Amino acid sequence: MTWILSPPPQPFLHVAGQSTLFAVRRVWCVGRNYAAHAREMGADPEREPPFFFAKPADAIVPALQDGAVTVPYPPQTANLHHEVELVVAIGKSARNIAAGQALTHVFGYAVGLDLTRRDLQAAAKKLAQPWEMAKSFDASAPCSALLPAAEWPDHAARIELDVNGQRRQEGAIADLIWPVAEVIAYLSRFVALEPGDVIFTGTPEGVGPLVPGDVAVACITGLPELTVRIAAPEAA
Ligand code: MN
Repeated sequence: MTWILSPPPQPFLHVAGQSTLFAVRRVWCVGRNYAAHAREMGADPEREPPFFFAKPADAIVPALQDGAVTVPYPPQTANLHHEVELVVAIGKSARNIAAGQALTHVFGYAVGLDLTRRDLQAAAKKLAQPWEMAKSFDASAPCSALLPAAEWPDHAARIELDVNGQRRQEGAIADLIWPVAEVIAYLSRFVALEPGDVIFTGTPEGVGPLVPGDVAVACITGLPELTVRIAAPEAA
């Protein structure tokens, strides 16, 4: 058998210090996983069950080893927002697993941006409509190279985002309402997790707008850095 059209390119992430690539299967994102961000979005940060949305795998924009990527300002928004997040890459199948086992299913970690059309998200929330057009657009998930899990044993890290040299977001991975292991365990009760799945684990407070020409630098202690340049919108 042959394909009637060429298969689409396989989305991927780079692996820090290696020439091999990590094939991306699915992209899951956790909503409101830091208390201060939940409050700034007008929500109650009580520990309710985590909720998830998805981006298509090809929303991933993989940063090279130097950490730099360029993404176009997306169409149909006047309020593109940055959300800096710890990204977890699954390396081993997980179905209905316990939190105590969850970290053994992790291949590695990265830092990414959950780019968001905040105006469309606000409109969708008001109408109780889905978030896809706010969250799941082209190039909405730039992400650094992955660091293998064994090389990042200490989750007591800072997470930060600077835009044009100004600090915008700052937090501690330890402040996740649902820590990585619990996010993986909980999600694995609802869907099969497979090698290639990546999970954006939520953003700390300080989300804000990006405009063409901005340069956003995302950092998590010990992980490869990510530099995202926002380009002019692509011609329609
Ligand atoms: Mn997010």
